Amino acid sequence: MTDEIRHNWTKEEIETLYNTPMLDLIYQAATVHRRHHSQSEVQVCTLLSIKTGGCPEDCAYCPQAARYNTGVQAQGLLKKEEVLAYARQAKDAGSTRFCMGAAWREVKDNQDFDDVLEMVKGVNELGLEVCSTLGMLTEEQARRLSAAGLYAYNHNLDSSEEFYDQIITTRKYDDRLQTLEYVRKAGISVCCGGIIGLGETHEDRIGLLHTLAIQPQHPESVPINALVRVKGTPLENQIEVDIWDMIRMIAVARILMPKSMVRLSAGRKEFSCSEQALCFLAGANSIFAGEKLLTTPNPAFDDDLKMFSLLGLKPREAFKEEKAKASINAG
Ligand code: SF4
Repeated sequence: MTDEIRHNWTKEEIETLYNTPMLDLIYQAATVHRRHHSQSEVQVCTLLSIKTGGCPEDCAYCPQAARYNTGVQAQGLLKKEEVLAYARQAKDAGSTRFCMGAAWREVKDNQDFDDVLEMVKGVNELGLEVCSTLGMLTEEQARRLSAAGLYAYNHNLDSSEEFYDQIITTRKYDDRLQTLEYVRKAGISVCCGGIIGLGETHEDRIGLLHTLAIQPQHPESVPINALVRVKGTPLENQIEVDIWDMIRMIAVARILMPKSMVRLSAGRKEFSCSEQALCFLAGANSIFAGEKLLTTPNPAFDDDLKMFSLLGLKPREAFKEEKAKASINAG
């Protein structure tokens, strides 16, 4: 193993890593993790739904798609002051990144977008890493978000290109890659990962990891989600994600993209403290805090505090990368 950051991984190499016996894989991933990160630091992020439900897309896992009967109450865009109140609360509770999610297919150039730009400015002024996930963007919209101070943009690839049309038919994999390119070009940090448990094969998981790992610049943040099965969605009867599959995905992502933040994201509520400890050991270094992840349940704040104390973890400060770079330049 070297310290080299590679962008030329082959699918065969990733398949070999993916099929490494579990304890060996965790050991390798933990070794890479310790070379590039402090093993006791975990970034705590808060994700707020700023516009809920009524989405025209057909993502088969999503309770916010208008076409599925999931009982999610549609709600228009929150007011800036409401969002900032949540952001302050999140900061006081230890979050250093605040992500705003809107259930849109794509951003439209209208008052809502202007309002979101104001929210971005406001959250930025609180000293939080401000992220958003708003659907597809044009190049100009990405530029405007960047000018407003947006730190990161989340846009997941979900799964492999081959499997994509089994879960979403209202857009193409290439649409996702296009938005990611605009985000990158605008100088915004990229948050991009996927979901397991959708009915995909191991090859699809390897395909997703391959697409992420061969990007000219790895996403700075790679969320690994376990499907949260919601009644009324086409995937409500999928089998539960096995924790070992999560650990395997996290470990391989960590080895392929050593510097990225690997986020133990949706589905965490189903995992015990010991199971989450294995995820951290395998290289996860970020979680979402708060009782809801958009519309699905998430562990209670107090449970996370207990877990951090038990495992000797501490929250990572905001803008750590930038501060490190600034101090190197100053020195
Ligand atoms: S995942 Fe996003 S784009 Fe897909 S249906 Fe849900 S809110 Fe819409």
